[in-house]
Amino acid sequence: MPVPIEKLRNIGIVAHIDAGKTTTTERILFYAGAIHKMGNVDDGTTETDFDPEEAKRGITIYSAAVTCKWKECTINLIDTPGHVDFTAEVERSLRVLDGAVVVFSAVEGVEAQSETVWRQADRYHVPRLCFINKMDRIGASFERVLEQMRKRLNAKPVPLTIPIGAEHGFKGIIDLVRRKALYFDSASQGRTITETEIPEDYVEIAETWRSQLIDIIAERDDAAMEQFFAEGDLPEETIFRILRQATLAGELQPTFTGTSLHYVGVQPILDGVNRFLPSPLDVPPVTGINPRPKKNEPTELVRKPKNDEPLAALIFKIVADKHADLCFVRVYSGVLKSGTRLLNPRTGKKEFCSQMWHIQADAREKIETDFVEAGDICGVIGPKDVVTGDTLCEQQHPILLESIAFPETVISMA
Ligand code: GDP
Repeated sequence: MPVPIEKLRNIGIVAHIDAGKTTTTERILFYAGAIHKMGNVDDGTTETDFDPEEAKRGITIYSAAVTCKWKECTINLIDTPGHVDFTAEVERSLRVLDGAVVVFSAVEGVEAQSETVWRQADRYHVPRLCFINKMDRIGASFERVLEQMRKRLNAKPVPLTIPIGAEHGFKGIIDLVRRKALYFDSASQGRTITETEIPEDYVEIAETWRSQLIDIIAERDDAAMEQFFAEGDLPEETIFRILRQATLAGELQPTFTGTSLHYVGVQPILDGVNRFLPSPLDVPPVTGINPRPKKNEPTELVRKPKNDEPLAALIFKIVADKHADLCFVRVYSGVLKSGTRLLNPRTGKKEFCSQMWHIQADAREKIETDFVEAGDICGVIGPKDVVTGDTLCEQQHPILLESIAFPETVISMA
């Protein structure tokens, strides 16, 4: 069943190497029920790090896409490489995704490479959520990382959860909007969450954080400000609505915390992705060039994320397999159908899309499909003379999507 486009989220998890991107991705997939068999980063058996050679080197190289469902939304997670050598690849993924979750380590905080990635995300206007991870580690400080984010990244983090304790004393998190304490049981792999009243010694701390949050929200909206003055508080829906607008505009970043290794804080990230990050409808339509404009025809083309627009699809990754190359494609407009011949405007040649798949969380499991609608991401087998960054379109409606200079990378899974 196709997913309604407004319920689609094409997002990436971005992080400095070692901040916990792999662990967070895996916990998200597990929590969303997409994978049932757990791997462990330390022995290189996680689902997203499955290339044993690369896993050995500790580099997350599986820069493709996996899909999971969370509540009413379908989330396509587009992997972004964390290693410094892959900056160009990070740029490529940032162009394909609509929103990002940026993971920071509560110990190391904002590192040089986080600054690079943050600026790249700024350049591509990617709305972001932040996750301050590893609160259980010695030297962890939630507030220090927030401060570094403001100073070094010029970010505007808005905490929606705060930690209860830190280091060995880290116990859980407080949901500031709902005024609840959440304790996670890592023995149950995050399935058990005990929700309680906020512990007494945290009531005042949580209220201080909450009033900072309400101030930020009320300041942005006259009606909310009036409501706040009249009632002394704001309802959940108002907080979320205003925060969503500000997040999409790139003005604020909803920020969460926890320790993904022990599943703490994973559910708020998933809720945050659904609530605050854009669907393909919330981002500007893709633009491209008409490769052979006839007289009076425009050279610049805009394609809206609609099924009845001409097809515009971008190959953002090619994974070489023993049998056939698997192209990861984002469909910006129109419907991509299997068994069709499409134009590659770079070469002027036709390419045959023989099979298409939705990529599931377990990268080895693929669900075959006949068509993929505007906004979605899929795997395609068939195109031969293609490189990453190529467009696929209809012969009678050619478009060359604006392409950044992608270095050619073909990763071998054989
Ligand atoms: P990546 O390089 O960003 O993908 O980071 P990984 O997910 O591979 O994590 C790096 C290391 O930190 C691994 O040994 C993880 O087990 C560990 N790690 C990740 N998250 C946490 C956390 O929340 N707490 C603790 N204590 N360790 C973590």
